[in-house]
Amino acid sequence: MRRAVIVGGGIAGPVLGMFLRRIGMDAVICEARPTVAGGEGAFLGVAPNGMNVLDELGLRPAIEAISFPCHGFEFQNARGERIAGIDRSADLQRFGARLKLVRRSDLHRALTAAAMDQGVPVHFGRKLEAIETRSDAVKARFEDGSEEEGDLLVGCDGIRSTTRRLVLPDAPAPTFSGLVDHAGFARCPEAPLEPGLNVMVFGRRAFFGAFKTPAGEVWWFHNAGQKRPDHAPRDPEALRASILELHREDPPWIRRVVEATPEVLGPYPLHDILSLPRWHHERVCLIGDAAHSTTPNAGQGASLAMEDAIVLAQCLRDETDPARAFDRFERARRQRVETIVRQSRQIGNTKAVSNSVAEWFRDRLLPIFLRFGAKAQSQQYAHRIVWDNRPESPAGAPPGTLSGRSPLAG
Ligand SMILES: Cc1cc2nc3c(=O)[nH]c(=O)nc-3n(C[C@H](O)[C@H](O)[C@H](O)COP(=O)(O)OP(=O)(O)OC[C@H]3O[C@@H](n4cnc5c(N)ncnc54)[C@H](O)[C@@H]3O)c2cc1C
Repeated sequence: MRRAVIVGGGIAGPVLGMFLRRIGMDAVICEARPTVAGGEGAFLGVAPNGMNVLDELGLRPAIEAISFPCHGFEFQNARGERIAGIDRSADLQRFGARLKLVRRSDLHRALTAAAMDQGVPVHFGRKLEAIETRSDAVKARFEDGSEEEGDLLVGCDGIRSTTRRLVLPDAPAPTFSGLVDHAGFARCPEAPLEPGLNVMVFGRRAFFGAFKTPAGEVWWFHNAGQKRPDHAPRDPEALRASILELHREDPPWIRRVVEATPEVLGPYPLHDILSLPRWHHERVCLIGDAAHSTTPNAGQGASLAMEDAIVLAQCLRDETDPARAFDRFERARRQRVETIVRQSRQIGNTKAVSNSVAEWFRDRLLPIFLRFGAKAQSQQYAHRIVWDNRPESPAGAPPGTLSGRSPLAG
């Protein structure tokens, strides 16, 4: 195996490209966006488990230069009362890295630059259209008429993966979680937020999260329950008004932050993919959101995509045949990612309640739920992948799936 075609240059794609260079494979990234950072998305958290993967590539300083550390979470109810907290100030000692918040476009730029520096070409404006597999090679064709051939192809093309549609046409569509996300960046000095602390408010009608950077900028997101994913107002001022209305009975600083935001970003309807029947077919494999998208509630999607990238490279290093490597990869990863997708769904279910009775129960049960959540979060953060090790299936994982459907399929 000498050459890999990587479809998608978001998060999984560049990280995989760099690890493939490390095992001596040539890799080319073909990305649909016309330029490196199309301004998509707002911000995201790279958890300690993801930061440790980037550290393995020597990228810690580059990411630290564009991100802000988070030292804890505070959860509040609609009256602004603290109902629970998670102290993350010891993460560096415990896990070797901290949770970092970063603008998505900055992360894309940093990962793309690092991949190019390490000898991985990245081609923009190349949208995958078709895949042709032979017994000894795979060829990708793009909408602009260009083609790339390799010994294998990895679909890193996100939740709406074309690779997945082409090679696994019967795979289930992503499931709408019932929540739609909006986000923004604001200057709002009067917001009572401590820099580095993630404040999460379970409001009466919607959920609000806010983080203040050391320079005083507020990065926020808002999640509201919706019956359909496409229901939010498109007009920017109508959208802002609808968010303000949903938070009218919540702590007043939330409204001030939304009012101080030059541009409300979104909508991002939140979907996930709990379990695909399989993640690979012949010479093609899916990783990251293409294989197992999660809602952002657990803050793990990007970090899982990075973990996938290192583990797939290890499998390609240790096996001589793509199908065996893909099978080993899927067995090593499936249990962990499906557990986290499920946990993230459960968190989402607490964010939007339909009436005051449900709100009453939720607010009383939340402290217990959040205690379990803190434990699960630490388990997610503690996952450390050592480059020199051979990836193994976790205890209890089923045998290989080379010849058919995964026994874990939902
Ligand atoms: C609102 C929101 C907030 C989030 N917050 C967090 C968070 O705090 N922490 C976290 O860890 N995760 C978060 N996530 C999830 C995280 O963004 C994803 O899990 C992560 O981006 C997955 O990386 P990926 O590389 O698999 O896919 P992506 O980052 O989606 O990259 C896929 C790439 O493929 C390209 N592409 C798509 N189709 C084609 C095609 N046909 N041909 C070529 N290229 C193509 C796309 O342009 C894109 O660049 C959030 C997601 C959302 C929606």
